[in-house]
Amino acid sequence: MTLDRHRASGSLGESREGWSFTKSRLYLDCPRAFHLAREANRSGINESGGAIPRHVINLSSLVGIAVHQSIADQIDRWVGGFQMSLREAQSHASAWLTSVLGDSEHLVTEKANGLHINSGILSKLTSSAKSRLHTFFLAAWPQFRGHEYVLHETLRSFCIQANRVWVKVDLCTKNPDGEFVITDWKTGRPSILQEDMLQMSTYVLWAAAEFSIRASDVHVRLANLRTGEMATHKVLTSHLAEATDRISRECRMWSNWDSGGFLPLPEVQKCYSCRSLRMCNEGQEVTSASAGRPA
Ligand code: SF4
Repeated sequence: MTLDRHRASGSLGESREGWSFTKSRLYLDCPRAFHLAREANRSGINESGGAIPRHVINLSSLVGIAVHQSIADQIDRWVGGFQMSLREAQSHASAWLTSVLGDSEHLVTEKANGLHINSGILSKLTSSAKSRLHTFFLAAWPQFRGHEYVLHETLRSFCIQANRVWVKVDLCTKNPDGEFVITDWKTGRPSILQEDMLQMSTYVLWAAAEFSIRASDVHVRLANLRTGEMATHKVLTSHLAEATDRISRECRMWSNWDSGGFLPLPEVQKCYSCRSLRMCNEGQEVTSASAGRPA
């Protein structure tokens, strides 16, 4: 089974020095979690030191990873000139979810953190993944007819004001008019538009740098695989300036602060999903107060 891109690449958000959208979201979610994850990566602390390894996955990310990997495998087939297959994509996603949940103590963060996981979770997640893949084949993929392949699921980096910025684009194509189209598959609930705009702006800045083109010639599509909605967004110069400012500001803060600057923002669900729970007193307080509650 080729459906193992997640483990091969680790977590983009935490494993490399520099800025990424995933890191920025982790920082917003809990500055302490961001700091502890970064320190664990730098010093190579593993389970024995308290941090849960990077290949262990949050429950809330499982469907997204299964769907993204299945789509990436199908795009591999398209690029190779082979027929794409909904059935094969669904069966890969289902097999991957079964294997991860079958070893949840070692592969699912919440379980590794001592949370009981309901037995019905596998069929629920499998059904969600299959539904999103169905939407991909039915509503999203037909809209790429006539597109030329550029790249997909590829890790790239570029520089903004001497800061290394990492992106992993779900799919980059050229439309029949020769314009670059960057597509992001969305599998969860609609996110905050401001955060979408930061992610899209980062993609546009990367494409402009990578292909030496004008930012205004790059289109960004958000494909919502829950609803089938495909929205093409115009990223304005002001959005690019805001993204550049935010990236520079966060890189400055992250390198200048000592550990005391990274405050914890404990919440039960968030802390059970945190790889650094065993190293965080505040997180342990809220999770032990709720012990026994199932996922
Ligand atoms: S356990 Fe909770 S409070 Fe502590 S670092 Fe993780 S998310 Fe933040």
